[in-house]
Amino acid sequence: MPEALPPQLGSTTTGLPFPDPQAFDPALQGLLQGASDLLGRWFATAALQSPLPGLMVLPPVAPGQRGLSNHALLAEVQQLMEGAYNPNHPGALAHLDPPPLLASVVGDLIAAGLNNNLLAEELSPSLSRLEKALCAWLAEAIGLPPGSGGVPASGGTLSNLMALVVARHQRGLDGVGEAVVLCSADAHVSLAKAMRVIGLPPGALRTIPVDAAGRLDTTCLAEEMVELERCGVPVIAVVATAGTTVRGAVDPLPTIAALCHQHGVWLHVDGAIGAVFALCDSHRHRVAGLELADSVTMNPQKLLGITKTSSVLLLASPAALSSTFSTGLPYMEPSWGGGHGGEAGLQGTRPAEVLKLWLGLRQLGLEGITAVLDGAISRRRQLHQLLAGDGRLRVFGGSFHLLAVRPAALDRAGCDLWSQRIRQRLLRDGLMLSRPDYQGYHHLKAVLGNPHTTSEHLEALSAILLGSCGEAAGASG
Ligand SMILES: *Cc1c(COP(=O)(O)O)cnc(C)c1O
Repeated sequence: MPEALPPQLGSTTTGLPFPDPQAFDPALQGLLQGASDLLGRWFATAALQSPLPGLMVLPPVAPGQRGLSNHALLAEVQQLMEGAYNPNHPGALAHLDPPPLLASVVGDLIAAGLNNNLLAEELSPSLSRLEKALCAWLAEAIGLPPGSGGVPASGGTLSNLMALVVARHQRGLDGVGEAVVLCSADAHVSLAKAMRVIGLPPGALRTIPVDAAGRLDTTCLAEEMVELERCGVPVIAVVATAGTTVRGAVDPLPTIAALCHQHGVWLHVDGAIGAVFALCDSHRHRVAGLELADSVTMNPQKLLGITKTSSVLLLASPAALSSTFSTGLPYMEPSWGGGHGGEAGLQGTRPAEVLKLWLGLRQLGLEGITAVLDGAISRRRQLHQLLAGDGRLRVFGGSFHLLAVRPAALDRAGCDLWSQRIRQRLLRDGLMLSRPDYQGYHHLKAVLGNPHTTSEHLEALSAILLGSCGEAAGASG
């Protein structure tokens, strides 16, 4: 018990705000308590606020001459919180940014307190082991073969980038300037970024058309792969998407995997949205074929509500990570088994993001994971039903919890104006959608991953959307 420490051991204070290493520190306790009260009140009043706050005054930015007291610090934090995006509002439906799981909030706090570094084992003995073990569990849980594993990354953009770097290295294509990457026209923008980072021209990302359901057209892919082979153009990887960002479409993974197998090409599946569905027996069919990938990006920070950032790159052969990225880390003790975290990916120093992922998944349990996925799918189904029968809206959906709509009667300019106007209209009622530009038209997009959203919210949403079509049609004659 902290109180049992002799009083003289509690007085090594340096006068600086670091936790006392010899006694339970009342200043630390006060700050934690105050912060937890602030956060608790923020959660408890989330539904009374808007998903998107209005203008706020930024607190002072630069450090003052004298440091601030706990009390003053908390007042400034509160000011900042008033201007924060509010994912806990039941009408927060715009993005793939759900409310945070409770245990993952605490996991982030503990990880910050431990301040370990996943760069090397001696800087994070238990957490390094946890990270490897949890990545191995995740990889096998989504169906990758025994011995599979992976590494966390600060976001799916980085997971996708690392996947391409690994694929290129494993295929012996480092420094080959003509090499290309194939993906669908609806693949995520992070792939275009990755091409810049790995030093290939934009044209080296060859996009294959999608079908009417937003899935990569495998006939076109097959033709393109034959043509590239005929011309001697090396392919770094095919990137299939399991859950496109606007509508949640899943590319035909088994067919793509067969083509990759036939041509000896690396298959990366960008499952930033969809891979979590493979964790659950009753939803795995939505991403059938995921288990055939060489590598998979999964973002538990999206639907599962693990606090940001939480992404993992999972591989059938995780040794490919260290054989791609390892430098020998000459200023560290050798690894005592399995390799240092800093040798398994692009990042050096990394926080213990694994802690909140592990704690969040343990808190949910497999039943909780299933319940989160069930809820998201059933809200999408309900909204789809409310909107689709009418015919005034074109509804774009897929296998998951995303829907994008636009009025059938409007042209591009009409959709642009409609989407701006209706987004503002919805915000007045505490309903926040996003406004993606998809296939040349602005849409309104709903992401139904928020567990607080009820049938009543969806009915209110659909009433406004359907009503707006009448207005829109009237306005354009
Ligand atoms: C969100 C997303 C990403 C990128 O993830 P970040 O964590 O935002 O970097 C990649 N691919 C798809 C399909 C996504 O939806």
